[in-house]
Amino acid sequence: MLKRAVSAGDTVESQCTRCKSLLNHTVVAMVDGRVVRVKCNTCGSEHNHREVKEPKAPVQKSVKAAAAPKTPRAKAAKAPVISDEEVWEELIRPLDPDLAVPYSMDGRFRPNTLLSHPSFGIGVVSSSQSGKIEVVFKAGRKLLRCAA
Ligand SMILES: [Zn+2]
Repeated sequence: MLKRAVSAGDTVESQCTRCKSLLNHTVVAMVDGRVVRVKCNTCGSEHNHREVKEPKAPVQKSVKAAAAPKTPRAKAAKAPVISDEEVWEELIRPLDPDLAVPYSMDGRFRPNTLLSHPSFGIGVVSSSQSGKIEVVFKAGRKLLRCAA
């Protein structure tokens, strides 16, 4: 039997950093079929996905993964960090760039909308609140104004 693949927008169980318990989360971003960012359905905070298995030895990197170029400079003493660019690539992959909506301060944008910005290029709306949206661009996450 084929296991149904998880994709962005699906609900997964993850350890919430704020609620400090195992709760349902909505998948925000995936890389290589793995959930990397989730949003807590309870408190709404977005954070990196944590597997709920008991702690194991450090994740072994496959030979393939070694092909990814890495900067020798350690960023922070954290678990492997998924770069903004990787998240961005993963988010825009299923979306059709021809459907990108031009960004405008008067616009209303829903999460997962593909958006084109005059300076930042193509991005995907990762969350929206009244009056602002967070958009993942290749250069990173930006908060943009929008219609409340
Ligand atoms: Zn939470």
